Amino acid sequence: MKKLNGIPTSSGIVIGKALIYVEEEFPEIPRHSIRKDEVASEWSRLLKAFDEATKETKVLYERAQREMAQEHAAIVEAHLLMLEDPDFQDQLKNRLESRLENIDWILWELSRELIQKLSISTDAYLRERAADISDISRRLLRSLLNIKKPVLTELSEDVILVVHDLMPSELLSMRRERVKAIVMDMGSRTSHTAILSQAFGIPAVLGLSSASREIKDGDILAVDGSSGEVLVKPTGKDLARYKKALEKFQKAAEDSLSGRDLPAETLDGRRVALKANIEIPEEAELALRYGAEGIGLYRSEFLFLAPGQPAEEEIQYLAYGQVLRVMGGLPVTIRTIDVGGDKANPEFQHNDKNPLLGWRAIRFCLALPQLFKTQLRAILRASAIGKVRIMFPMISGIEEVEQARELLEEAKAECRKRKVPFDENIEVGIMIEIPSAAMTADILAKKSDFFSIGTNDLIQYSMAVDRGNEKVNYLAKPTHPAVLRFLKMTIDAAHKQGIKAAMCGELAGDINATAILLGLGLDEFSMTASHIPQVKSLIRKVTLESCKVLAEKALSCESWRDVEALVKKWTAKHAQKI
Ligand code: PEP
Ligand code: MG
Repeated sequence: MKKLNGIPTSSGIVIGKALIYVEEEFPEIPRHSIRKDEVASEWSRLLKAFDEATKETKVLYERAQREMAQEHAAIVEAHLLMLEDPDFQDQLKNRLESRLENIDWILWELSRELIQKLSISTDAYLRERAADISDISRRLLRSLLNIKKPVLTELSEDVILVVHDLMPSELLSMRRERVKAIVMDMGSRTSHTAILSQAFGIPAVLGLSSASREIKDGDILAVDGSSGEVLVKPTGKDLARYKKALEKFQKAAEDSLSGRDLPAETLDGRRVALKANIEIPEEAELALRYGAEGIGLYRSEFLFLAPGQPAEEEIQYLAYGQVLRVMGGLPVTIRTIDVGGDKANPEFQHNDKNPLLGWRAIRFCLALPQLFKTQLRAILRASAIGKVRIMFPMISGIEEVEQARELLEEAKAECRKRKVPFDENIEVGIMIEIPSAAMTADILAKKSDFFSIGTNDLIQYSMAVDRGNEKVNYLAKPTHPAVLRFLKMTIDAAHKQGIKAAMCGELAGDINATAILLGLGLDEFSMTASHIPQVKSLIRKVTLESCKVLAEKALSCESWRDVEALVKKWTAKHAQKI
């Protein structure tokens, strides 16, 4: 038996069989000339590939219709239509006959050309077609080249997925009910794969460095997403230990729901709001199950991440409406698209040399005003269904808030012209997740109806640590004095301006930070829904006064080590209560 230790990012205990998933890498596509009399046999090879791909896609489509949201099924439907499109086949045939080269190469070359042409189009519909072509050409090539790889969308048995790295879009499109746990070389607690695996309730251990090399396909693994332990080929004794731990985990999960309807209020009457972060509309129900008082962060970019991004206004409107209907009258904060960084859509995002400092979030939206306004109109229209707040991500200074607000006004004018109802008083907030924003929070507060602190990025940019890189993860300390000072500055600036300060980074759901955050005056905590019960339970056992003293002491510490020691001591002192 071998024991590996990584970063626990999504709790849960699983024993199962490993599936090593290697990122799809096509071998070099062969290129050679053919004789005229070989055209027919090359063409029939392609037709066979089309046939196989169509069959596979039909199965997928049926499943998507049964199990997925409408917009996901629509993607698969588009693939099916494209496979049946006679124009695409005609172009391939003409080229095969005129070039006299093997069909694999003809297909590869034509699809690359089409993808390139479509992906720089200003028309969102055409850009979407680029992703469709990419997807189906890969499917056809897999069949032509006889590449047999595990395809995550088509898993037929339960597995523990072992990967070097996994893109959020892959996690979104895979057959999730078959993935019992994720074990990954890369990643950290705040990487988007971690956030999504929590959202889907898939236990995960990330940052293992070389797990994908050390584990073999089919190995039995025992994964503990709470401790970060992964056992490879566990023995009988360890298996028994894991089975016991699993029972305990399940019981604790049931118990945690008992306080669902209690208020998040300290012993001396400080009431805060506990909300949920969601990535896809289907999560809204889970948020309610855990007692969320609203959605504090709807990461709307996940609508744009799966291949064939459904960017149309109508599809967005339906998704937002779905969340609002589930949430009843509870407020839903929709964050405008935050693509880029580790959430790049490879088909559409330019290849930034340094993506985390690159063309992402509000920068991307301000550069593509039509795309941005389409989203803003969809959000505005949805505001007639329930209580919506808009939030702009990655704000670095006042100019971006002003520009974004101007575009919002234009979107409102367009809605008025179309006579569609919307909330004229919709609140507009910003994320504080870049040090320059925290430093100028007093200025930004004047143009914002609320703040929400994104500690995942704020920590990343404060200490210059890539949040997905396990080698530097040890530096990403939320209790670093710089971070605590940024938090205080932001919360104080919000209160001085009479607006609320929320937090939607992972720190909001970390019970080791709850008391300090209360003491700093945070008004709203938004987190992965399943973390709400434990944060609430802690809030209900402390006094605001003691938290204020703790926060003050923490702010005077010189290192994160001192802060952690302080919190430990504080917890021990309040141990009976907590
Ligand atoms: C954050 O940066 O803390 C945040 C909530 O946004 P995201 O994790 O989506 O970047
Ligand atoms: Mg962020």
